[in-house]
Amino acid sequence: MPTLVMKFGGTSVANLDRIKRAAKRVGVEVAKGYDVIVIVSAMSGKTNELVGWVNETSPLYDAREYDAVVASGELVTAGLMALTLQEMDVPARSWQGWQVPVLTTSAHSSARIEDIPTENINAKFGEGMKVAVVAGFQGVSPEGRVTTLGRGGSDTTAVAFAAAFDAERCDIYTDVDGVYTTDPRVSDKARKLDKIAFEEMLELASLGAKVLQTRSVELAMRYKVKLRVLSSFEEQSDDAGTLVCDEEELMESNAVSGVAFSRDEAKMTLISVADRPGIAAAIFGPLADAGVNVDMIVQNISEEGRTDMTFSCPVDQVARAEKAMEEAKTSGEINYHDLVADTDVAKVSVVGIGMRSHAGVAAKMFASLREEGINIKVITTSEIKISVLIDRKYMELAVQALHDAFELDKAA
Ligand code: ADP
Ligand code: ASP
Ligand code: MG
Repeated sequence: MPTLVMKFGGTSVANLDRIKRAAKRVGVEVAKGYDVIVIVSAMSGKTNELVGWVNETSPLYDAREYDAVVASGELVTAGLMALTLQEMDVPARSWQGWQVPVLTTSAHSSARIEDIPTENINAKFGEGMKVAVVAGFQGVSPEGRVTTLGRGGSDTTAVAFAAAFDAERCDIYTDVDGVYTTDPRVSDKARKLDKIAFEEMLELASLGAKVLQTRSVELAMRYKVKLRVLSSFEEQSDDAGTLVCDEEELMESNAVSGVAFSRDEAKMTLISVADRPGIAAAIFGPLADAGVNVDMIVQNISEEGRTDMTFSCPVDQVARAEKAMEEAKTSGEINYHDLVADTDVAKVSVVGIGMRSHAGVAAKMFASLREEGINIKVITTSEIKISVLIDRKYMELAVQALHDAFELDKAA
């Protein structure tokens, strides 16, 4: 039998009615003759609640217990989905991560999937099961403990299953009807894309567009999974939603295909560090060891052998970064005058494979921000993206201005 993977995000399983609706969609595919693997998220809001409980109980929590708690949301929806399908006379069974098993690394709260043996589920398909409902977002470590895959990780579960079971397609059902030129909640001019290249989707996801977890796009690209994003709220035709595909499948592209943003950034500046060989390693080594995800880095000009070093990181890692820098100062590895944290910044990025062949994208981006009177604090670029750090209060304005400037409401 051909296999199909269908993933339902939090809002698509938010209550029993929604689960029924999703189950009906699954039933349609079963009727077409597919063996279906359904991946479910926790009911929307549930994971946030569980994370909140962990933080309240133990601010510097043991990550193994964090995983034990937050993985539970998906267990509930997996069981309820299997029961709903059974009520519809569809032979279905739920699977927790460890039962499959989804084998992961032991990096608790951000584990990576290493392997998904297919024998157990395939044996049940062989016995007449039509739907395997798998709890997303989780797996089991070599030590036999429950792990989770990082926020939004059910997308990655879905793509990993599609690769492991050689599925015909991986459909990601969510609360929007596809991938848009920017978050439709921020710009009402956002336009749905019929297709987007893996590389662009990868950049958009990693720069903050949470419609797909970054790692899921990486996996889809590597294992050539046919990946589609579509709405669970509307009746869907076979070509609905957005197909994430190889660049070659795109007819033509604009210089910029999307605008992404990340709200909760911080800009940290070490004032007056010695400008000597090895200084960057002495700063960023301890930050990495402390688990700080440094993104943008700028070293300012040197004066009398001293310089300022600026970097950005997620705002909830500021305390960790400060601690790491203070320790490095105390141990004599680095010496600085002051560490200034600006916790009111956001990152806005434009992304497009068309940038490789179009000149002037950066100039246009900067001019558009200037027209809105938005000051740029840090800039980084790569072959297919340009990111700027700006004051958070201007984030929405910047996204809308850039969307207009690059005429993203119009197709290429
Ligand atoms: P799910 O619970 O189904 O996994 P998520 O909330 O994780 O859903 O992701 C869907 C959300 O991603 C949308 O509601 C939308 O606000 C947001 N989003 C951000 N950027 C984009 C984009 N470029 N296209 C579509 N949605 C986007
Ligand atoms: N429930 C998890 C989260 O909210 C995983 C997911 O929904 O993808 O992050
Ligand atoms: Mg998600």
